[in-house]
Parts: sequence; C-alpha cells; structure tokens
Amino acid sequence: MPIRLLPPDAINRIAAGEVIERPAAAAKELVENSLDAGARNVRVRASEGGLAYLSVEDDGHGMGPEDLALAIERHATSKLAPDSDGRLDLLNIHTLGFRGEALPSIGAVARLRLVSRMVGGLAHSLTVEAGQHAGSSPAAWDGFAAHGTRVEVEALFSATPARLKFMKSARAEALALSETVRRLAMARADVGFHLDLEGKSALRLSAETPDATGRLRRLEALMGREFAANALPIETSREGVELVGFAGLPTLNRGNASHQFLFVNGRPVRDRLLSGVVRAAYQDFLASDRHPMLALFLNLEAEQVDVNVHPAKTEVRFRDPALVRGLMIGALRHALAGAGHRASTTIATAALGALRAPDTDRPSPPGAMVGAAQLGLMGTGAPPWSNTALSGFGRAAPPPGFADPAAPGFQTLADRGLPSDQAYPAEDALDLPLGVARAQLHGTYIVSQTRHGMVLVDQHAAHERLVYERMKAAFDAPDGLARQPLLVPEVVELAEDESERLIGCSEDLAAFGLEIEGFGRGAVLVRAVPALLPRLDLKGLCRDLADEIAELGQGLKLKERLDAVLGDMACRSSVRAGRVLAVQEMNALLRQMEATPHSGQCNHGRPTYVELKLTDIERLFGRS
Ligand code: ADP
Ligand code: MG
Repeated sequence: MPIRLLPPDAINRIAAGEVIERPAAAAKELVENSLDAGARNVRVRASEGGLAYLSVEDDGHGMGPEDLALAIERHATSKLAPDSDGRLDLLNIHTLGFRGEALPSIGAVARLRLVSRMVGGLAHSLTVEAGQHAGSSPAAWDGFAAHGTRVEVEALFSATPARLKFMKSARAEALALSETVRRLAMARADVGFHLDLEGKSALRLSAETPDATGRLRRLEALMGREFAANALPIETSREGVELVGFAGLPTLNRGNASHQFLFVNGRPVRDRLLSGVVRAAYQDFLASDRHPMLALFLNLEAEQVDVNVHPAKTEVRFRDPALVRGLMIGALRHALAGAGHRASTTIATAALGALRAPDTDRPSPPGAMVGAAQLGLMGTGAPPWSNTALSGFGRAAPPPGFADPAAPGFQTLADRGLPSDQAYPAEDALDLPLGVARAQLHGTYIVSQTRHGMVLVDQHAAHERLVYERMKAAFDAPDGLARQPLLVPEVVELAEDESERLIGCSEDLAAFGLEIEGFGRGAVLVRAVPALLPRLDLKGLCRDLADEIAELGQGLKLKERLDAVLGDMACRSSVRAGRVLAVQEMNALLRQMEATPHSGQCNHGRPTYVELKLTDIERLFGRS
C-alpha cells in the first residue's frame, strides 16, 4: 500500500483514543478548561457514567463566536503564546491545558455542543457532529451565572463502537468520573464544585478561601472528618519549591495507598515519587502493609517541572527530583516528629463504640454513640499539647528517684522485692497530657487520670516505642550501639535454615550490638547483646531476625532495614504484657511517653494509648 496522509477526522479519532479514553477523561479535560477560564464555580452533570450525556458548565470568561469555532480545531489553543522571538516555550506552562486537543478529540467521537457568553456579550453556540460543524450561531443563555461556558457531550464513543465495547459498566464509569471531579476539587479549594449523576446530587462543594483553612475544609469534605481531625499541617519551602497540605497521623492508616494525593501546580498527578516519599517518611510508624492518608500540594516554578510527559498530563517530570523528594520527606518527618505521642481521635471513637453499655434489649437511639471526634476532641490540626509545654519537665528523664523502665537492667519494684504502694505524683500532675497512673489492669494496661478524662495505656506497646526511639538515637550517635558481652554466652536453638541465615548476616548484626556465631547444626551462640537491652528474649529475637532476613532476600543489607531490626529488638525487650508495675513505674512510663517523639503509636502503627474525655464517658452513661 502507498503511504498516505491521514484525513483530519481520522487523526482526531486516533488522538481521542489517547486523550479521551473514557468519560472521566473527557470530564477532566472540560473541567480543566473551565478552571483555565478563571471559573469560580464548575457544575458537572452526567448520565450513564457520562457515556450517554456529560455536561460541564462554568462561570469563567467565556468565548466569543470566532473563538468558539477555533476552539474545536485541532492544535488550537489560547494558552500558549509566542515570546518576543516568536518561539513557544513548552516548559513555561501556567495553565492546565496547552495542547489544544481536548475539544477536537471529543468532537471526533461524540456529539459536542458548546454555548458560551462573554461578559457583556451575546451568547453563541456551536455543535460538532462526527467532527463536522456549521459554524457558530447566536443562542439563548440559561447558564447559572451571567457569563461562562457550557460544554455538552452526547453519546460519547458512539462514532467509535470499538472503544464503546471497552467501556466498563456505566456504574464503573460514573465512579471514575466522580473520582476525577473530586481530585480536581481537591486541587482547587477556591472553586465551588457541583456534580450531579443521573439527575441526583453527588457532590456540593462551595468555594473556600485559598489558604490552609480553606484547604483543610475542602479536604474534610472529600476525605472525611476523621482525616481533618487527625491531619498535621505541612507548610515548607526551599529553593523556590513550596510544599503545603495535610498529612494524616500514622494511627489513621488504611490498607492501600488510594487515600494519598499529590498535586503539582494545581494539577492532580499520579507520580511514583509520592509512594517512595511516603514510605520513607512513615517507615518508623507503620507496618509496611499499612498506608497513611495525605494530600500534598507542590508549587514550583513552571520551568522546574515538565508536565508534557503524557497526553493526559497526569505524569510529571521534575528538573530536580532529589530536591523535591528531600523537601517532601523532610517536611513529613518534621510534622510527624512534632506530633509527639498524639494518637488519632479515631482510636477513642473506636473505643467508645466498643465500650457500649451492656445490651439492654433496647436499640440505642441513633447517634447515641457519638464519637470523640464530635465531642470536642476534634483538633484543628495542632497537637492537643505543644512540644514547648512538654519541655517543662525535661526530656525522657523519669522523675528523680523513680525507675526508668526503658533503662538497661530495669526491674520492677516487685522484682526487687520493694513495696510499691506509694502514690506519685501530686495533684497538679493531672494536667500532664497523660495524667497520673491510678491502676494497672490485667498486668497489661495502665489506667491514668487526667484533668478532663482518663487514659488507657498499652504498656507493652508504649514501652516498645520508647525502647525503639532510644535505640535509634543510640544507633545514630557517633559510636553507634554499644555491646555488652554476656557472662555466659547463650545457645539459641533454631531451625537449620534460620541459623544459617543469621550467621550469614553476623557482620551486620554486630553493628546492632548483637554478636553471634555458629554452634553446630541449627543453633547459634549469642556472645553479646546491645548494652541498652541486656534482658532480651534472645530466642524470640533470633527467630524474628531470621524471618526479617528471609523477607529481605539477598538484595538488601540489614542496616538498610534499621527500622525493622531495631523494631524487632525493641519488641523482644519490652515490658511484656502480664508484668506487674508499681505506680511509680507506671508514672515514669507515662512521663517518658510524653517526652518521647512518636510515642503515640508502637512501631507497628498501633496506638499506645487511648484517651477518653469526661464528656465521652458521660455520653456512655447517657449523662449528657
Ligand atoms: P487547550 O485547553 O489545550 O487549549 P482545548 O481543546 O481543551 O485545548 O480547548 C481549546 C481552547 O478553547 C482553549 O485554549 C480555550 O481558549 C477555549 N476554551 C475551551 N473551554 C473553554 C471554557 N470552558 N471557557 C473558555 N474558553 C474555553
Ligand atoms: Mg483543554
């Protein structure tokens, strides 16, 4: 066959396959056009997931009759203007669109109608069918605002039946469409959004202020109250790159990463950068199969980022990815460290649900079990107490005269045969964030009283976290983790493959203060342990580490899994559940938690304590 130039309508249909792969993609392009036109409000309507009908209307600046006809021409755009040398700068893009492809592509695969009215002008409309149109003509304007544009798309893909066959159900398309609109709405809190599906309202968002408060309100509407109540504000900038947004506390975690959002210059993007950043920043606080919720907004000079990587513009390329990555990880870590031992309010809410009074044969009235989040526990994003308040009672040091539960050789008073009935401390300790320990239940939970409620602490989880933080600090110190030789080396029996794996990593383990060598088949000899943890459960630890090594495979060094190894060690050295603590020891633990970063959750992201306000408790008993 001879080589031929393709006719324009074929070119448009081919391009449509890339740009408009499904109704959600059409909605994205149209809403982006509205935003580029300076809209303050955008209204989207769809039926059958947008396959049968889709319309996007705005109160933007609108188009005149000539522009209407040009807008649907291929590669026609108002968004790229030549500079003084007559050149177009594709690396300096300040609008969402710039390719001039969306409208002609949609026009090639659907019936497209545009109506537009500029400020003080007359409305005009234009209809495209199968890529053909007869120019613009005067029309009536019945838009929701005095000026703006409405674009309607009917029977999307009817001209390309092959593609129609690939469409999932109308339901799936509606979901994707709604997801797209929600993402754009997240990116632009300052714009109001309406979405109607099948004639029913699916989203009503009024415009918010373009600051952190407005952003949080918008995120609350889209990601839920829980997120808003448990999100840490992020605000930082370096070398012209600005990062703002909100990051959820680690205790508010999900089973997948679908609640993590990244926006670059107001553009929702899916970038692998984000998942790496999140993993690095949260690794100390979350098990690897749990994922935090967050929404981050990067703003940087247009030259610093290339958005022209893919026709749908959902991928970006940073000129200096290391700078962006570093900035994001730093900001997240800083925010998480600042959160101290704050655990999310959802924990208390969940606890309240579980604390339901015994079944009284009567269904409780709806709303009787109001969550803590609704009871004034709901934070504004700032921790309930600030770090400055904590500095008042020093860092990590237990009160004088009290045992330090995270210290080497820590023994309970009972271990030492001492009386343990002295109640510490004075009344004003009630104002401390974690209050005064009153009792230990089941040898596992510490109950403490605060000025306005009570706190329940999981002593094992809390202690594990304290030990972990201490180990990490020691590991980072110049001389690293000190070793303490055992007077009598301990033999640990393991499975053969386990002992082999451990011995294979003995050099790495030595850096952690753990000295082991082979001891016949299926056993190792432990000669030294980390000086910080003289009372390790060695058998449990060796097993954990062998598992860890198996999981890591060959590729990774143990040192690169610092968090995992230290976590295993902390876990195997902690005050076990079932160990009786004296009141002083409980209080020492509480004070240390207050002074230790990240102590609101154990190394696996489980909470270390739950707080119930008096108001919550009163609710439980129907007193308020
Ligand atoms: P692009 O957005 O890449 O420029 P489109 O095909 O999406 O390409 O749109 C072509 C042109 O039509 C835009 O550059 C803009 O001038 C105009 N246009 C499209 N939608 C609107 C709208 N809602 N309001 C005002 N002008 C619009
Ligand atoms: Mg566009």
